[in-house]
This record gives sequence, C-alpha cells and structure tokens, in this order.
Amino acid sequence: MLASSSDTIAAIATAVAPGQGSVAILRLSGPRSEAIGRRLFHPAGQQPWESHRVLYGHVIDPASGERVDEALLLLMRAPRSFTREDVVEFHCHGGLVVVRRVLELVLAAGARPADAGEFSLRAVLHGRLDLTRAEAIGQLVAARGRRAAQLAMAGLDGGLHQRVSQLRSSLLDQLSELEARLDFDDELPPLDVAALTDALRQTQAALHQLVADAQQGQLLREGPRVAIIGRPNVGKSSLLNLLSQRDRAIVTPLPGTTRDLLESELLLDGVPLTLLDTAGIRPTSDPVEQLGIARSQRALASADAVLLLFDLSDGWTPADQALREQVPPDVPLLVVGNKRDRLPPGASLAPADVPLCALSGEGRQELADALLERCGAAGHQGLEVALNTRQRDLAAAAATALGRSLQAAAEDLPTDFWTIDLREAIQRLGEITGEDVSEAVLERVFSRFCIGK
Ligand code: GDP
Repeated sequence: MLASSSDTIAAIATAVAPGQGSVAILRLSGPRSEAIGRRLFHPAGQQPWESHRVLYGHVIDPASGERVDEALLLLMRAPRSFTREDVVEFHCHGGLVVVRRVLELVLAAGARPADAGEFSLRAVLHGRLDLTRAEAIGQLVAARGRRAAQLAMAGLDGGLHQRVSQLRSSLLDQLSELEARLDFDDELPPLDVAALTDALRQTQAALHQLVADAQQGQLLREGPRVAIIGRPNVGKSSLLNLLSQRDRAIVTPLPGTTRDLLESELLLDGVPLTLLDTAGIRPTSDPVEQLGIARSQRALASADAVLLLFDLSDGWTPADQALREQVPPDVPLLVVGNKRDRLPPGASLAPADVPLCALSGEGRQELADALLERCGAAGHQGLEVALNTRQRDLAAAAATALGRSLQAAAEDLPTDFWTIDLREAIQRLGEITGEDVSEAVLERVFSRFCIGK
C-alpha cells in the first residue's frame, strides 16, 4: 500500500469561477477526513454521523466561532468511496470566496493540498479503478464534443481495458508455450511454430488497428483545424454564422493567434472544429501585408483541411483560381460554391464539391458531411475505443517488439531471442492497463489531471 495514503488530501473538486456555479464541492480523502469534517462541520439538530448520509449544517471556524457557510456534508467511509479511503465532501456555496475559506480551514485542521490527479491516483493504487478507466475520466472531463465524450465513456465502461487485456493475455499464452520449451523441451510435443507466429501476427495486426483508431480518436478529441478562404464578399462571415448557429451556446471565440487570423471553435455533428478565418490571404506588394500573408499561409499549411468558398453567381474567377493555388497540395481541399439561390436552375455548379446557400442554410448538412470527410473525421461512428497518446505510443512499441520477435522466428534464431521481444510487448501492454507499471509512471500520468480529480 501507498506510503502517501497515510496523509489526508483536500482539494476543491468543482470549477472555481467568480459568480458562477451555485454549489462548490470540496473533497477530502485519507484517514483524518472524518475527524477534520467533525471539527469544522456542525450538523443542525440530532443528525447522526453515518456513512453515505447527507448532513445539513454549518461550517464554523473553530478559532473564532464564525459561521463560514451553510453547507451539506457527505461522509463516505472506506472502502465504499472513490479512493477506497475515508472521504468527506463539503457541498458549499459556489463562487470564489466561501469555498476557498473552507479549504483554508480544512488545511489548517491537518489536511494537505492534493496534487493534480491525486484522488484518481489513489483510486488506482487501491484497486478501485484500473488505469485505462482513470484516464478515461480525465478525458471525459476534458471532452470538447459529444463524440469525444462517448469515446471516453467507452474507456470508462472498460472496453479499452478489456481489449488490451485480451491481447496481453494472448501474448502471455504464447510466451508460456515458448518458455515451457526452454525448460522441458524433452517432455513436450514439438513447438507448433506456424500456429505461434500466426497468433503473434494477429495480435500485431490488432495493435496496428488500435494505433490507427487512436489517430482518429485524437482528431475527434482535439478537433480538426479548418482554414476558410475566399474572396471578399463571397459569404465567409455568413458561412461562419451558419455553422455556429446550431450550437451557439458552445461557440467560444479564441483569441486569434495573429492579427490576420481569427479562430473560432464550434461543434459539427459532435466533433469540435477550430475554424481559421485567414482574412489576410490576397496578393499584395505591401511588405507589412506580405507578413500577414506569410502567416496565413503557415496557417494554411498547418490546417487539417481548407474550405475554399466562391460565389456561384460570379462563377469561378481567376482570383478564385489564384487562391486555390495558395493551398499546399498535401492539405485536403473542399471547394464550396455559395449563393446557389442566385443561380438559375440547371446552371453549372462546377467546380463546387458542395453547393450552398449560406443565408438560408440549404446545403449545410452536405457541407458538414463533406468537411468532416475531408478532415478524416468522418466514419467515426464505428469507432468504439480510442487510445490516448500515451497508450498509443505503448501499443505502437508493443507492435514493433512483436515485429522483432516475428523476425527472430523467421530467421530461425534460438527461442530465447523471440522471448525477449515478446516479453517487452507484454510489458508495454501492461503499462497501458496499469498491470505492469511503476508508481513513478502513474504519478506522471495523473499529474496531467486537474486538481481535485
Ligand atoms: P465575406 O466578405 O466573404 O465574409 O462575405 P459576407 O458573409 O459578408 O457576405 C457578403 C454578402 O453576400 C452579404 O450581403 C451576404 O448577405 C450575402 N450572402 C452571403 N451568402 C449568401 C447566399 O447564400 N445567398 C445570397 N443571395 N447572398 C448571400
């Protein structure tokens, strides 16, 4: 058991913002939680201090006797708590002042401030959560879109753990086959090399698939960056308005990274997108303007896709063509023809991939589908689990180790050569699930969590 579990940690578990959140939760975990709760919290009337029962009362400063807040207290005795330790939650009034004051009192009474992710770390160390589930909680909290949240929930439900554990246990089977031959070669039937390498190859393919899915998961989590370009007046602002309307509440204007670049964030079919409005791109001889163009072009090069908007009623002009030529050849391009309402029926839509009327919204869904497809974020509905970056790197390392093991088999090297790499692959997968991981690695993983988780 952990040495650090002998102390009691405390942190505000909810977001702290002025004037926001009517309730704030302060969480304590460790052996002194109940004693600290009893010292500061005075229940009204004759309520008993029972586990998993909500008490109503006041938080009182023991030094001055001052009432600091009217609050609820929830006691969860070990092991029936998130950390499997004694946990106390103070449900205080929100905002900045009161809950911080309560935190100060809690610390003065003997708790210490929790490190980032320390509650989750304790939950993992005490066997309450496996590592993939704990990481999924972090991702659920950080999710910016519905799809990212769904993937995190799949991790929380244990889908990821199960998938990786199965692969690891299959490798353990192969390893024991090999090791048995090393020790008792005379007493066992000869090794079925074909079956063994087949099994290794299958595991390797499954790992490659997980790595590929992780890339898509990352795109869904972080959201593709899409640069919007087009001549003045073709309807770029109208398009931005149209795309942000549905999810207006979630649109957050980001400070533009440059003077010429306006970034905004929105959700398209549950996928977060960062839109870069590269207003600065047009040929110019002004050196200051040129600087702006250089920046915009860097933005173009860093985008996951470019949306080029043109005016169907003007047709495809040389200026549109000039813009198209600014798009680096390796960045996916979607050409959208706007103002289709101004086009007589039957007139050519070329070269538009998608026709649109940004004013009425006609063509919005087609545009959304085509854009996600260009970004590589389409087809994500079939994605069930997605490794995070740490897990993906480990899965890739496991696949590489298996490759070496297969190579050793192909070259007919002695069996111990295969087992070294096989063991490494098993170890890497164990680091994903937490079955084979040091406390130092765990601490690094959880340090990326927010305080109070
Ligand atoms: P920007 O300069 O590219 O940002 O273009 P705006 O979004 O400001 O649009 C320029 C003008 O075109 C405005 O008067 C819009 O109302 C109009 N506009 C935008 N989209 C459409 C459309 O689909 N149909 C029609 N008829 N007008 C549009």
